[in-house]
Amino acid sequence: MKTYAYGFPRIGKNREYKKLIESYWKGKISREELGRGMDNLQREIVGIYEGHVDNFPIGEMSLYDNMLDTALILGLYRAESLDEYFALCRGKDALEMTKWFNTNYHYLVPDFDAASDSVLRLLWNKQLEYLEKFGKGIPYIIGPFTFLKLSKGIKERDFRDKLIEAAGVYRQIVSAFERVHIDEPALVMELSDEEIDLVEEAYKIIDGADKIDLFTYYDEVDFPGRLFNLPVSGIGLDFVHGKGRLREYILENGFPGDKRLIAGVIDGRNVWRANLKEVASLVEELSGKVASLEISNAGPLYHIPVTREGEELDSALLERLSFAMEKLEELRAVADLVSGKASAEIAGVVVKGGENEAVRGRLLALTERDFKKPLGYSERRRIQDEKLKLPLFPSTTIGSYPQTPDVRKMRADFKKGKITEERYREYIDSKIREVIAFQEDIGLDVLVHGEFERSDMVEFFAEKLEGIATTKRGWIVSYGTRCYRPPIIHSDVYRPEDMTVREITYAQSLTDKPVKGMLTGPVTILAWSFVREDLPVSEVAYQIALALQDEVRALEAANISIVQIDEPAFRERAPIKRGEWDEYFSWAVRAFNLATVAKPETQIHTHMCYSEFGEIIKHIGEMDFDVISIEATRSRGDIIESFEGVDFERQIGLGVWDIHSPAVPTVEDMMKIVERALKVIPKENFWINPDCGLKTRGWEETKLSLENLVGLVKRLREENIS
Ligand code: GLN
Ligand code: ZN
Repeated sequence: MKTYAYGFPRIGKNREYKKLIESYWKGKISREELGRGMDNLQREIVGIYEGHVDNFPIGEMSLYDNMLDTALILGLYRAESLDEYFALCRGKDALEMTKWFNTNYHYLVPDFDAASDSVLRLLWNKQLEYLEKFGKGIPYIIGPFTFLKLSKGIKERDFRDKLIEAAGVYRQIVSAFERVHIDEPALVMELSDEEIDLVEEAYKIIDGADKIDLFTYYDEVDFPGRLFNLPVSGIGLDFVHGKGRLREYILENGFPGDKRLIAGVIDGRNVWRANLKEVASLVEELSGKVASLEISNAGPLYHIPVTREGEELDSALLERLSFAMEKLEELRAVADLVSGKASAEIAGVVVKGGENEAVRGRLLALTERDFKKPLGYSERRRIQDEKLKLPLFPSTTIGSYPQTPDVRKMRADFKKGKITEERYREYIDSKIREVIAFQEDIGLDVLVHGEFERSDMVEFFAEKLEGIATTKRGWIVSYGTRCYRPPIIHSDVYRPEDMTVREITYAQSLTDKPVKGMLTGPVTILAWSFVREDLPVSEVAYQIALALQDEVRALEAANISIVQIDEPAFRERAPIKRGEWDEYFSWAVRAFNLATVAKPETQIHTHMCYSEFGEIIKHIGEMDFDVISIEATRSRGDIIESFEGVDFERQIGLGVWDIHSPAVPTVEDMMKIVERALKVIPKENFWINPDCGLKTRGWEETKLSLENLVGLVKRLREENIS
């Protein structure tokens, strides 16, 4: 049984990748040093692959992003020097960035409108470079369909021409090698018949029947019959994510005898050890129907950390974990099991997550009524208006204020034990005093405490909640050189004590204006963590929701009258296939609603970042909040449109300040957004706020922008209250 692995994390055990490239950006190392460092990293990965599996790609390494590299290979952009390359990645001329499928990786979006040249031709033989340098591995490239499907600026009627053009370039690439590894994850999307026709047409042109290993992953392909007939030599399928339909299909219909099936059987996206016995029996089942079978990871391994080695976690948890390195060992183990080289005894152990009786009891006792607030929105509105007495166009911010180097240093010192908890709290309190005074001076209506005690909105809660672990070195790449450490939800989740009450009530004690309690929502906590699989994900979500609901209650008991539950990842976690959206949103909405069950007089806010709202507006309508704030500055047209058709009765704050840029918006800039929005949203329901938290901004522009924002509010009130 041959093994094949791909997508091994590029970042290195100790984030060498990040350090290397960022040192180059800072001018600390030369081009040559960067080159040597990158070669070392690549060599190490080749060594790891070689030590574990039979087949692997070469050239997956990138200085920033593989979609960009593909655009450069195809001549869509030109980068004659490293600095030109990095200019496309960061800085003012950088490509836009967006989420890669439903993962937490973000890729640079090639833009055919803004490209230096839209005629595709082979401009950079990246594969050849790598193959010549390292002498082994199967040259790697993202496939033409995925590349174009995820690019922008191609008109629908031009798509076919572009794909055919691209196929010509791929033909040239493929002809230069004995074998090529092509990644086509976009084939798991819900494609139209015309699109599938185009895929067939393109691969006919590429003409690599005896050369191409074509990989699909993140979900199942909906058209296995047609996929299996493509002129390629091997097909990689994902048998982990999806509904088991591919397995059924192959058991029923077999697999073409002239092709290799590369069965993705070890999960590349989650951190749990596989049940090797089960995997081995799937492989055995398949091998009865497939003449030439290899096994691989399902989905690239860069979505999980490099190795669990060196982690200081509870031993029962550590036992359950398998990071990229360990996944390779699992592949080896499955192959050995199947070929009878290993005994099946050890292979069947599955360690379950910790159970908490109280949590299970609460979950079991939940009925439909528990997901509902005692009063509906319009009744709550009356009570809240009465209590809060907010002016027309209430102004607020999203939560965080600038996380300046001193804040980060203090937090780091506290974590390292360099300063006492008491000293740290005093410091946080001093920042809270500053930010409350600042907001009062400026004249905002609803204040926040600034989130200075939080490094990251998910990690903060992960550290406070039982059942969720955080790691020391479990970094994964988020984009470019940016890494983050997703928490691991491993056992039943509960809240051993108050999480946010101290800081919020301290902030509230300093002002007569309302201070918002600030929580991260259940779906976002899930979406940005690794989630246990021994419970349905909806139940994990409800456990987190109940813990958050307790926190809402604790805030209420401490006389906090507004609580915001952020759900920036609400849309993000939706499945790739639209057909599965209703199922997902149904539990996601319920989890949010469960978390926010509160007294009628408590005003519940939520916040979401992105702007493609149209497609999920129906589900937003099912979320029982009182006020929502969303990012709107960059695509105000679209977002306002999505509210046009619906009868949206709740209050809404469309962001008027693009906080992704240090530019200070003028009153007029912001007024334009408001004027357009007021055509669709009644003024009584309209809040004024920035697009998102101000964590990444400096104080300078924060002060100027918020002054303008309050100036805007003044102007609006003068014009509207006569
Ligand atoms: N309250 C968070 C903040 O202001 C929300 C961040 C987010 O939506 N990503 O930082
Ligand atoms: Zn946001």
